[in-house]
Amino acid sequence: MIKIMLVIYGVEKQTVDFVASFLKDARNVEVQEREIKEIPYDLFNDKRGQYRGDFINQWIYKNLKKKGTDIVIGILDVDAYVPPLNFIFGVASPKLKVCTVYLARLKIGVDIYGLLSRLKKEVLHELGHLFGLHHCLNKLCVMAFSNSIYDVDRKTYKFCGSHYSRLAMGGLEFKSKYKLI
Ligand SMILES: [Zn+2]
Ligand SMILES: [Zn+2]
Repeated sequence: MIKIMLVIYGVEKQTVDFVASFLKDARNVEVQEREIKEIPYDLFNDKRGQYRGDFINQWIYKNLKKKGTDIVIGILDVDAYVPPLNFIFGVASPKLKVCTVYLARLKIGVDIYGLLSRLKKEVLHELGHLFGLHHCLNKLCVMAFSNSIYDVDRKTYKFCGSHYSRLAMGGLEFKSKYKLI
């Protein structure tokens, strides 16, 4: 059993339920949810108006990741960055087994369905990093790097054949519809 905890900040229940539900498309996955009411202010960069994504991952690891939890995925409705990038959609810390996805930019210009589609891709992308996957040259593979929202929209939520197999070998076996044909 792979125990995944979702750490939620400022996100609607419908969105959280959606994430929990597609994660269960992988075999032997159990999902817990934990809502947080604030993110420590020292993780916020005043001048930029953004949070430091990698610092949030460390804070989650130290303060929220329980024994027995294998993986933590944060879904946070804020804007974040990690130097030298101006902004990030998400960031993974594979050693900590913590990743976070940020909604502020994923929401731009789309309705709830557009947001959920983007969110699914970004969650699966960061989850892939936690299982040791690197970026993919196949622009349709969910492990393709997204420099802009256009890149997010262009790729699919599916893994290319080799990434799909590597993930399965790492213990995360998604339904076959998650494999690019
Ligand atoms: Zn990446
Ligand atoms: Zn790939």
